[in-house]
Amino acid sequence: MQSAVLFKAVSRLYGDVRAVDAVDLDVRAGEFFAMLGPSGSGKTTSLRLIAGFELPTAGEIEIFGESAKGVPPYRRNVNTVFQDYALFPHMSVRDNVAYGLMIAGMGKKQRHAKAEETLELVRLPGYGDRAPSALSGGQRQRVALARALVNQPKVLLLDEPLGALDLKLREQMQEELKSLQQSLGITFIFVTHDQGEALSMADRVAVFNQGQVQQVGTPEEIYQRPDTPFVADFVGSSNVLPAELVRELTGVAAPASLRPEAIRIGQGEAHAATVNSLSYTGAVTKLGLQFRQIQLSALVPAGMPVPERGTSVAIGWDRTALHMMGQGK
Ligand code: ADP
Ligand code: MG
Repeated sequence: MQSAVLFKAVSRLYGDVRAVDAVDLDVRAGEFFAMLGPSGSGKTTSLRLIAGFELPTAGEIEIFGESAKGVPPYRRNVNTVFQDYALFPHMSVRDNVAYGLMIAGMGKKQRHAKAEETLELVRLPGYGDRAPSALSGGQRQRVALARALVNQPKVLLLDEPLGALDLKLREQMQEELKSLQQSLGITFIFVTHDQGEALSMADRVAVFNQGQVQQVGTPEEIYQRPDTPFVADFVGSSNVLPAELVRELTGVAAPASLRPEAIRIGQGEAHAATVNSLSYTGAVTKLGLQFRQIQLSALVPAGMPVPERGTSVAIGWDRTALHMMGQGK
């Protein structure tokens, strides 16, 4: 499949800080690609490198097969939805959306028609005359989206666009963004520190840590078969068993991940553990278990008997539930 954005050993250093550290990436045309990682892991810098607001210290970036070297931001066919929306407060919604078209020299009537069309696309028809200050947070988000989509970029970069919204609205926007991406067929590169958001929205996810990409894969691959302890831990709070313990259990000395939902609890299971914490969350109760030298987390579905804190329980798992990993970087 055609590459939309290709990173070849791209680095961006700020003094001693390796904000982006020898990253290789291949974002395919038309995919919904998520960059997932904790704060400071290099996600925003990666987006800024694609947009052309930053230049690599080393390595090469290609956009649709062409080197981005020397290509200024406005000629990259890439637009950004910024984290803080960055709307112009003194301009109407219509003029905000039409801004890029005005800069490109399009006449007033035509650009206003385009703006209205794009406002319909983001479900804000008829909002053109309003000031940004007269909109809710969710509506401002849509205006920022419309502004970035109006000149039909080939790649849309979204930097934590839903971070400021409350949970209900965020979930609604997640679905809308996903269906918008599918209907437009534009490549979306979506930055988030929320693993649930990345897993539910993206076709593929790149997991960032300290400027490096630790794994790229489908949500299922990332979740079921993490490459490193960091990925296992960051994507869905898996249990990470240290190599020494895995060697005692299986004979193979490698760290392994074990999903909380893969742990069975009840008579007849192979191992002894002690329940040292319980937290009820509705659909499941989370158990903290002391198992040999480590702490494990396990889940008990609603309606199943929950053991008491301080008691000893038998636990077990399928052999295949233990996923062996490399040590990571
Ligand atoms: P993220 O978006 O994943 O939170 P960033 O890409 O913003 O991470 O930052 C990665 C690292 O680079 C951080 O340590 C950050 O402090 C540093 N950094 C980012 N931009 C600059 C800059 N302009 N000057 C110095 N350091 C920067
Ligand atoms: Mg950021």
